[in-house]
Amino acid sequence: MIIVMESNATESELDEILELIEEEGFEAHLSPGVEKTIIGLIGDREGKEQLKERLSAYEQVEKVIPVLEPYKLTGWKFSRQKTVIDLDGVRIGGKEPVVMAGPCSVESKEQILTTARIVNEAGAEVLRGGAFKPRTSPYSFQGLGEKGLELLALAREETGLKVITELMDVEHLEIVNEYTDIIQIGSRNMKNYALLKKVGGLDTPVMLKRGMASTIKDWLLAAEYIMSEGNHQVMLCERGIKTFCEDTRYTMDLSAIPLVQEKSHLPVIADPSHGTGRWELVAPMARAAIAGGADGLLMEVHPRPKEALSDGQQSLKPERFENLMDELHRMNRALAEVENSISSAL
Ligand code: PEP
Ligand code: MN
Repeated sequence: MIIVMESNATESELDEILELIEEEGFEAHLSPGVEKTIIGLIGDREGKEQLKERLSAYEQVEKVIPVLEPYKLTGWKFSRQKTVIDLDGVRIGGKEPVVMAGPCSVESKEQILTTARIVNEAGAEVLRGGAFKPRTSPYSFQGLGEKGLELLALAREETGLKVITELMDVEHLEIVNEYTDIIQIGSRNMKNYALLKKVGGLDTPVMLKRGMASTIKDWLLAAEYIMSEGNHQVMLCERGIKTFCEDTRYTMDLSAIPLVQEKSHLPVIADPSHGTGRWELVAPMARAAIAGGADGLLMEVHPRPKEALSDGQQSLKPERFENLMDELHRMNRALAEVENSISSAL
């Protein structure tokens, strides 16, 4: 809230206003100007509306302007500390980027167990795999449903990996929540406010993918829907947006990563698989996302991409994934060194 004083307000009239603000438990920031003095009021709690009315009644106050803070819970004003989602030691939003990898869809016991072993060996900490799939065509493979969830749980049991899977519909909330460690809300559902509110009522961490045609503002407000219901364990995922460019499936919006981090304390994950739609572009975009400050990566890996029932064209083969993990590991070490040298130079 900003309070603009009348230009002829005296010093004692100004003090009176400052005293009132402080008495009510708010902090005042004074900006004395040549023409007018402006007071910025800090603090977001009950009583602000009444105070606004009282202040407006003073003659020496020209006007009171409410500052709308759209990102009440996702913004840095709510938390000055970055959100870290801790899944038994897998810290999303912590110092080290977290890799979530696995097939687009869970297809069979052999396929998910093989993939889980590969990504686990290579250093991933979370296994991804869709059981309920949001496919563009109703005639495409729709996922194994509950059976897929059971297979993910089996892979978790064997490898110790955490599991992330998509929740598409309120109807499956309980069953998905029973099996998964992180609930994924997909791009197509980013604006499904009823679904967002429902996951907001759980205490399971949620990964909210950016809608493919959504602005940063829409995306953060969607996260507000989840957080305002009480669930503060939210991470965001940049997964590419629709642009005029037809050469890739989507346009990976790398600038969204630092941009969102500037506005929000929530961890940001990058998905270069959906972001590009081409396996050849996954590794370079994964490296770029990490260099740009992403808190983690979500990537599709399949033991035999050519046989994949969904998104084979953007899935990495095991050897390519292993090479990428090795590169990322070395990159992280180099980035940590650069960061140290920056902070010691400051
Ligand atoms: C997925 O992760 O498999 C998926 C369908 O993602 P998106 O919602 O980003 O398309
Ligand atoms: Mn996919």
